[in-house]
Amino acid sequence: MAGQRVEVAGANAVVTGAAGGIGAAFARVLLERGAHVVLGDLDADRLAATAEGLRAEFGDRVRLWAGDSSTDAGVAELLAVAPGPVDLFVANAGVFRGFGLEATDQDWALSWQVNVLAHVAAARALVPGWLDASSSGGPGGAFVSVASAAGLLTQLGSPTYSATKHAALGFAEWLAATYGDQGVQVTAVCPMGVRTAMLEEGETSEQPDARLGMRSVVSAGEPIDAREVAEVALEAHEAGRFLALPHPEVDRMQQQK
Ligand code: NAD
Repeated sequence: MAGQRVEVAGANAVVTGAAGGIGAAFARVLLERGAHVVLGDLDADRLAATAEGLRAEFGDRVRLWAGDSSTDAGVAELLAVAPGPVDLFVANAGVFRGFGLEATDQDWALSWQVNVLAHVAAARALVPGWLDASSSGGPGGAFVSVASAAGLLTQLGSPTYSATKHAALGFAEWLAATYGDQGVQVTAVCPMGVRTAMLEEGETSEQPDARLGMRSVVSAGEPIDAREVAEVALEAHEAGRFLALPHPEVDRMQQQK
C-alpha cells in the first residue's frame, strides 16, 4: 500500500549519468511532469549537448553539473546545484567494463565504484534529511535505483556487470526494507536491452565476451526505448511498488530462474 509519495510535479530531482540514453530520458520525463532537474554526468561535452534542447524547452528548471558523482564529495557538489533540498534522486550512471575472468582489478574497481558505491554515497547524503522531513509530516524522499535485469538474472559475458548490478539491487532492497516505512521511497528498475550507447558499444565490441553478453540481452527480445524505462520506473514510484521491470521478457525469465 503506497503511503504519502513524493510528487514528481514540483519535485527537486537529480539524475546521474544524465548525458546517456536512459539518464537523458529520465531527465526529459521528469521535466515534462513539472520537476526541477539537475542533470549530472562525467562527460561535460555530452552533458552540454543533451541539456541544450532541454534548456530551450524547459528553461531554468534545467541545471547541470559535470563531474564524478560516485564519491561522497561528488554527490555533495551535485546536490548543491539543486534549487532546494533534493526529494527525488535517480541513481542512473553506470559502466559496463570487464569481460570473463580476464576482467582486471581495475575493471572490477570501476564497476563497483560507479554501479554500487555511487548509490551508497547518494543514500548517505540524502536519507537523514528525508527521515527528518518525513517525521515532520512531509513525504520524505524518493530513490530510484537504475539496476538492470543483470541484477536479477545472469548476464553472460560480463561478471563485473552482473555482480555489481546484483549488489545495486541488494542495496536498494536493504534501503527499502530498512527505511521504506519511514518516508524513504525506493524503486529499482531492471531494464534488459535498451537502445543506448552502452548497448551499441557491447554489440560492436572487439571483445567476444562483450558481444556474448549483449547477445544474451538482445536475444531475449527487441531492445526497448530509454523513455519507456523512465516512464515505467516513475509509474512504479507513484504506485509504491519496489520493482519496475520495463522489459516484457524479464518477468517471464525471472519466474523460470
Ligand atoms: P550510457 O553509457 O548511454 O550512459 C551512462 C552515462 O553515465 C554516461 O553518460 C557516462 O558518462 C555516465 N557516467 C559514467 N560514470 C559516471 C560517474 N562516475 N559519474 C557521473 N556520470 C558517469 O548508458 P545507458 O544505457 O543510458 O545506462 C544508464 C544506466 O542503465 C546504467 O546504470 C546501466 O547499467 C543501466 N542499464 C542499461 C541497459 C541497456 O541496455 N542500455 C540495460 C539495463 C540497465
